[in-house]
Amino acid sequence: MTNRRLRDDTLLVERGRDPANHFGAVNVPPYRASTIVFPTVADLAASRDRQYAGYSYGRAGTPTSHAFEQAMASLEGGAGAIVASSGVAAIAVALTAVLDAEDHLLVADCVYGPTRRFCDRVLRRYGVAVTYFDPLIGAEVETLVKDNTRAIFTESPGSLTFEVQDIPAIANAAKEVGAVLINDNTWATPLLFKSFEHGVDISVHSATKYIGGHSDLLLGVIVANEQCLKKVRANAAAFGACAGPDDLYLALRGLRTMSVRLQRHEHNALLVAEWLGTRTEVAKVLYPALPTDPGHTLWQRDFGGACGLFSIVLAESFSDDAVAAMVDGLQLFDVGASWGGFESLILPSDPSRLRTATRWEATGPLLRLHIGLEDPHDLIADLEAGLDRLREAA
Ligand SMILES: *Cc1c(COP(=O)(O)O)cnc(C)c1O
Repeated sequence: MTNRRLRDDTLLVERGRDPANHFGAVNVPPYRASTIVFPTVADLAASRDRQYAGYSYGRAGTPTSHAFEQAMASLEGGAGAIVASSGVAAIAVALTAVLDAEDHLLVADCVYGPTRRFCDRVLRRYGVAVTYFDPLIGAEVETLVKDNTRAIFTESPGSLTFEVQDIPAIANAAKEVGAVLINDNTWATPLLFKSFEHGVDISVHSATKYIGGHSDLLLGVIVANEQCLKKVRANAAAFGACAGPDDLYLALRGLRTMSVRLQRHEHNALLVAEWLGTRTEVAKVLYPALPTDPGHTLWQRDFGGACGLFSIVLAESFSDDAVAAMVDGLQLFDVGASWGGFESLILPSDPSRLRTATRWEATGPLLRLHIGLEDPHDLIADLEAGLDRLREAA
């Protein structure tokens, strides 16, 4: 029992709990602490020596943040984890941990918009050269690597457009020049993509999504391998990265049910995506779990499942008014950013604004859907009426 690595569903229940040290309470409570007091000067000095392992000041960690970090590191198989106030903050801390002025960074062209904004508006200002690359490039990324390439940033599948990247091939190219591979693993969570088994050095997550799972918190987390952990930790401390006790508590609670929630999200999303694929108004369904998706083979090779987030591309250049007639009239899909909660969402989006290395060419507008935990037949009926409105308005 002790020698065998526990399976994920067991880790989700077991990790980040410590009843013996919390009066028998099953869950680690939300510790509200800025100041940590010490009975003597000697105790204060001892806490400094222990660095991050003990408690010295709220920003540097509390039992609640440590519990969440330990659970995340254990699930994903990293050497350790560090929390930040949001996914974007985690991405900023991870990138700046490994990049210096005059370094070169390669970024997949499909990354989350605010990731691109941080690279373009902040990293460039501090002297980092940034090159975007075609997310489908695979091992060819090697041709873009320069002597000063220190990091490669991927997000697989990509935001909005869901390109699956060949992470092991990109990891090999990174290793050859000693660059660090950072991957945004928010879509897959630590359950569906095992970052460190595929050559990733630093995995970043928006815990705001499926980890929280209820659309009521903002939280980021960085999981790093042994080589990178110290650097990331020191950088997070320098930036003052930390998270609020309630968000950490809710994220720990979210982890307990994440596996069962994800299975249902995948089941529902597959039904809805397959149905959408049969509709003439829909040209493409961008969901790696579908055999018709161009990333399906890589997804099958590297991922343990899919979440409930995908996009559709409409078959014609329907007007904004026609799309609004469809979307505004939906009863069960609210219009909104973010995702990973229990509820369904829809978001019209234009990926062409967000790419420079590749061109986004599509027959019509793109709609991103998050499929929640409702009965999928109700969701399909709602979308069917929506597509009828789309056609009538066209
Ligand atoms: C939402 C999201 C983020 C940012 O997370 P926040 O917690 O909202 O800051 C980063 N990456 C991806 C892929 C996301 O979807």
